[in-house]
Amino acid sequence: MDNQNDWALETLAIRTGHKRTAEAEHSEAIFPTSSYVFGSAAEAAARFSGEEPGNIYSRLSNPTVRYFEERLAMMEGGDSCVATSSGMAAIMAVMIGLLKAGDHIVCSRSIFGTTTVFLNNFIAKFGVDISFVNLTDLDDWQNALQSNTRLLFAETPSNPLSDVVDIKALADIAHQNDSLLVIDNCFCTPVLQRPLDLGADIVVHSATKYLDGQGRCLGGAVVGDSEIVGKEVFGVLRSGGVAMSPFNAWVFLKGLETLSLRMKAHSASALELAQWLEQHEAIERVYFTGLESHPQHALIKQQQSDWGGIVSFEVKGGKQAGWRVVDNTQMISITANLGDAKTTITHPATTTHGRLTPEQRTESGISDGLIRVAVGLENIDDIKADLERGLLA
Ligand SMILES: *Cc1c(COP(=O)(O)O)cnc(C)c1O
Repeated sequence: MDNQNDWALETLAIRTGHKRTAEAEHSEAIFPTSSYVFGSAAEAAARFSGEEPGNIYSRLSNPTVRYFEERLAMMEGGDSCVATSSGMAAIMAVMIGLLKAGDHIVCSRSIFGTTTVFLNNFIAKFGVDISFVNLTDLDDWQNALQSNTRLLFAETPSNPLSDVVDIKALADIAHQNDSLLVIDNCFCTPVLQRPLDLGADIVVHSATKYLDGQGRCLGGAVVGDSEIVGKEVFGVLRSGGVAMSPFNAWVFLKGLETLSLRMKAHSASALELAQWLEQHEAIERVYFTGLESHPQHALIKQQQSDWGGIVSFEVKGGKQAGWRVVDNTQMISITANLGDAKTTITHPATTTHGRLTPEQRTESGISDGLIRVAVGLENIDDIKADLERGLLA
């Protein structure tokens, strides 16, 4: 067989991970079993002691889950991948596995809302200090570092305003301080951006989004080297139990097979939508990685191979005008999920960012007229027509 390391990403996404069983199945098998049977007392003892490799119990390993882990590890270019029950479980496993009381972490302010809540309400409780910084401002990151800073955590591009950080520069800043860089690669997926190649140490995923691609299952993953991820983060799974179910792993395996095609289609439609919105008279401003008007367009072209599917825009007229766009859609789903074949729409100021004070919202750039669209795979003309209704009204 060819050396798999020479395969392109599209091929890795389809051909790696699966080890065919004696049944010669073509599609990956689902193994819905909680435990595995040993041939003898001696074999059981050897497995439990770690002397002999092999399955013991599905909290520790499951063949279908392993197929997914090996495939995603190949796609991200990491030695090791640990699959988890959700994206938040992946983030939790990284934090619990790598941090101890007295440590410090630095995080971009514009991360997924639940990640902020998890850090502030739970990780802080165990004696870990957290500093929040401006994602795009490398000086801000640098100035926040302390001798006890164990890791830096960033999400790029950010949600919903699509700000980006220079991953390579941030990795240098982290490593000069003996800290680790963790990137949440949910919005780009390995198809558009490979943070480990750029110097990041760990990638976390919410598989719930683009890896699934059709809004069916919750799941997550951590990718990195075999020591930090393969042992320290895996240890949390082994004892803490936030394992991925084999059925969900199978859905994600199927999702990975079409991921390249889908990300290209999401990106192309999102670009067309953003360009159309940018010249629309009802629109104040459009936030999208693919627009020449994006202040970091040059960095994005260097760091990502395509734009992604998230378009945000400010409608003239504030909250009333924003809600009018949402309420006049007939096809697009009003839901906060993203990465789905179905286009979704949200009004961040009153949903995902509704718990912030008006001052905090202004500081984060979440205006009352802001709308976020996660562009799906329907025909772009139908998506435009559905949005146009509320823009004309
Ligand atoms: C959704 C999301 C998460 C959390 O993932 P779940 O699978 O919902 O737990 C983390 N990070 C980002 C960027 C997300 O969009």
